[in-house]
Amino acid sequence: MARPRHANSVQIPPRIKGFTPVGYCNGECEPLLLYLEELEVIRLLDYEGLSQEEAARLMQRSRSSVTRIYQRARATIAKALVEGVEVKIESGNGFLNCNWFFCSGCKVRFNNPKGNVTNECVLCGSTEIVKMEGCV
Ligand SMILES: [Zn+2]
Repeated sequence: MARPRHANSVQIPPRIKGFTPVGYCNGECEPLLLYLEELEVIRLLDYEGLSQEEAARLMQRSRSSVTRIYQRARATIAKALVEGVEVKIESGNGFLNCNWFFCSGCKVRFNNPKGNVTNECVLCGSTEIVKMEGCV
């Protein structure tokens, strides 16, 4: 499958599929979408402490694109926290830059940078292996 235009390289797949607010929910709120590239830019800038230039190089995008993605991500997170709205993580224009797999047996995520066909978990040996969403 070809990468979408303006695809953003993502180093590590998310551990979760979203967030749910605690203590308040009227059940009528549509979840906010946080795209994979938005989570990646938050991870690189706020969690890892990289500069926007470094993040742009890792994501294979221009610095101005990273700035735009970062602004969208911050706005989504701010709205979720202030208004108490659920957040769901979706793939958007992000792609995982190596082959990641999930084992249904032991719940471990592992990658296979050489891209070889994997049919067995590296940890428990289970054959219940799923290639993670967003891989190209
Ligand atoms: Zn396993």
